[in-house]
Amino acid sequence: MRKLSTQLIHHPYKPPAGFEALPPAVHKASTVIFPSVHALRSQEWKDKSGYTYGLHGTPTTFTLEERIATIEGGRYCVLAPSGLSAVSLVDMAFLRQGDELLIPDNAYGPGKAFAAGELAGWGITHRYYDSQNPADLARKISPATRLVWLEAPGSITLEYPDIPALVDVVRAANAGRERAIVTVLDNTWGAGIAFNAFDLGVDVSMQALTKYPSGGADVLMGSVVTRDEALHQQVLLCHMRLGLNVGANDAELVLRGLPSMALRYHAQDVTTRQLATWMAQQPGVSQVFHPALPSSPGHATWQRDATAAACLFSAAFDERFSQVQIDAFCDRLALFKLGWSWAGPISLCAPYNMPSIRTKPWPHRGGLVRFAVGLEAPDDLQADLAQALQALTD
Ligand SMILES: *Cc1c(COP(=O)(O)O)cnc(C)c1O
Repeated sequence: MRKLSTQLIHHPYKPPAGFEALPPAVHKASTVIFPSVHALRSQEWKDKSGYTYGLHGTPTTFTLEERIATIEGGRYCVLAPSGLSAVSLVDMAFLRQGDELLIPDNAYGPGKAFAAGELAGWGITHRYYDSQNPADLARKISPATRLVWLEAPGSITLEYPDIPALVDVVRAANAGRERAIVTVLDNTWGAGIAFNAFDLGVDVSMQALTKYPSGGADVLMGSVVTRDEALHQQVLLCHMRLGLNVGANDAELVLRGLPSMALRYHAQDVTTRQLATWMAQQPGVSQVFHPALPSSPGHATWQRDATAAACLFSAAFDERFSQVQIDAFCDRLALFKLGWSWAGPISLCAPYNMPSIRTKPWPHRGGLVRFAVGLEAPDDLQADLAQALQALTD
């Protein structure tokens, strides 16, 4: 099979005859005209054999869905207007009143907020488990458990979980159950490049296309990919009933980002490892979190299951520094801008108050800063970190 970087460019899209341009066309529609009443009554969109209404898909969104499913090694894809709406779509597709959801303690924060702020009010409970401890997941599974989120690596602190071991725990619990527990991975970090989520055993892979597939820091979108047709239909019907839509121009922006995605991923990976390794040696830094560093939790699992790492690392600072000093360090950075998100062209950073976002006790007393590395020259970024660290430790 050809390498992903080749597949991203040589894809099955066929332009209209006589117009051999590479980019897929941008099709816009609410209304789609049917040729006859018979067609109006029988045309089917759920299997992509036809078009019926803008909300149910256009050639542009079908093309993007096909591309994302292919990149991730899945078969089916549903697009959502943001990564977070893809998270809530999965929750709403698979959970009903009385069900319980299990979420890793180090999961993406707004997904936890959806469970606490919305699902709880609908009679759907949630519990947190320790992603680094499959036995803890086994203990938390109850007869009410219906959905288990996974995230590799964890949000902010980047602990790398043993996905096959966590999936095995769920499979063992599923033996003899009428309604199987579904596993869903937040695959934004891996993006289909660092590992194949389905080969590791997960049922559903959700991604914030906002990050790598777009790559431009200019569009919000999410995806839900599966290999299983029944699971896909459940997500697709929930998506239809919710009326979720992505705009054709946004879909075009993501399609435009895809051919360069593998190159960007690897370039940012190389720079991030350089900076994380360097940062770990600096005075005043007590620990750096990045799955490729042997001192980072889950390093051996990352080495076994993944072939690359994304553009994120976090640094825990020595406890002698106050939050005010760490905030000043962030303010002093010139190339790393203050802001959310990652995988765009510009480097970003943000301080986090760890104890407030974890239920599991957080072992470091010092403050933590998460860095998202962009496409700038690695040495310029390192010099920027160096000058801000110098001012902090002086
Ligand atoms: C950014 C992100 C999301 C949400 O994506 P948005 O498009 O910003 O809503 C979900 N999960 C992870 C891991 C993310 O980094």
